[in-house]
Amino acid sequence: MEKAWDVLIVGAGTAGLAAALYSSRAKLRTLVVGFPMKSNIAKAPKVFNYPGFPEGVSGKDLQKKFLKQAKKYGAKILEDEVVDIRKGKLFSVKAGKGSAFKSRSVIIATGKAYARAGICGEEKFSGKGIHYCVVCDGYAYKGRKVAVVGSGNYAAQEALELLAYTKKVSLLFNGQKNEISPQLGKELRKRKIKLVKGRILEFRGKKFLEKVVFENNEEILEGAFVAIGKASATSFANKLAVEMDGSSIRVGRDGKTSVKGVFAAGDCCGGSPQAVKSAGEGCNAALSAVMFLRGGVHIDYKEK
Ligand SMILES: Cc1cc2nc3c(=O)[nH]c(=O)nc-3n(C[C@H](O)[C@H](O)[C@H](O)COP(=O)(O)OP(=O)(O)OC[C@H]3O[C@@H](n4cnc5c(N)ncnc54)[C@H](O)[C@@H]3O)c2cc1C
Repeated sequence: MEKAWDVLIVGAGTAGLAAALYSSRAKLRTLVVGFPMKSNIAKAPKVFNYPGFPEGVSGKDLQKKFLKQAKKYGAKILEDEVVDIRKGKLFSVKAGKGSAFKSRSVIIATGKAYARAGICGEEKFSGKGIHYCVVCDGYAYKGRKVAVVGSGNYAAQEALELLAYTKKVSLLFNGQKNEISPQLGKELRKRKIKLVKGRILEFRGKKFLEKVVFENNEEILEGAFVAIGKASATSFANKLAVEMDGSSIRVGRDGKTSVKGVFAAGDCCGGSPQAVKSAGEGCNAALSAVMFLRGGVHIDYKEK
């Protein structure tokens, strides 16, 4: 078995890369999974309020510097998305392109989550047929006709997980482009999960969800699990039973969540969406991970 990572960081934005800088400088084996140049700060044309840059700095350049600095001390970056995390003796983490890892700790730094699909009836049937987490609510649909709404790796993973409860699973792309990796696509075909491309007009039912209406037809549906885009902070919090404050992960000033070995930082923890705040929280989360793994307070003032 491949050696476990000490720290696995989900998200390669400001918070994730700041955390990686601290954990790798503390000589912890650090893996960051995410797409650095797709993070929020990389979208900012010019940043004027990040300390140390009195003339302002382009978001892209700032992000490149974060990345270079984290890599310099040994953090490894994997350009992929995390689709699943489970807690056991170690954390088991799966990525969209098929790789799987073990880690002794996890830092969630996935930025703000926007998981709603915005489909008519979604709100009305939320908790009454519409759900956002297979691990949490899949058991209620044993042997029933269910679907996952989404077109990416996270949706594919959720659909595969539903098979533990029922064989009647389909994946509804809702008119979106298929962005599932070849590895997960193969798995879906092997497990005979039906792929439906059409746009969804509405979820319909009386008290509970009963059917899904497409442009040209409708189908009976007892449960739908929304899994739009990437697995979000909320998805991971659900899977790991981490306490939330609304749609934000609840953390103390030290970046610890309610679950041992799980830390969180940045916009996914709420508060002002600011780069310097995210970087500070990344530092906190990493130092708490060092303390969790090694014991004792870690102060990082050394040159190398
Ligand atoms: C256009 C724009 C301009 C801005 N200007 C400023 C500014 O001038 N000053 C300022 O302070 N702040 C600014 N911000 C806000 C700032 O960028 C953010 O507050 C900060 O960068 C958040 O960092 P983060 O690491 O928490 O989240 P993000 O930057 O959102 O990074 C999270 C990363 O996690 C990834 N991710 C999510 N889910 C997964 C998954 N399942 N697997 C792997 N990776 C995942 C995301 O793709 C993303 O790359 C701006 C934001 C935008 C969009």
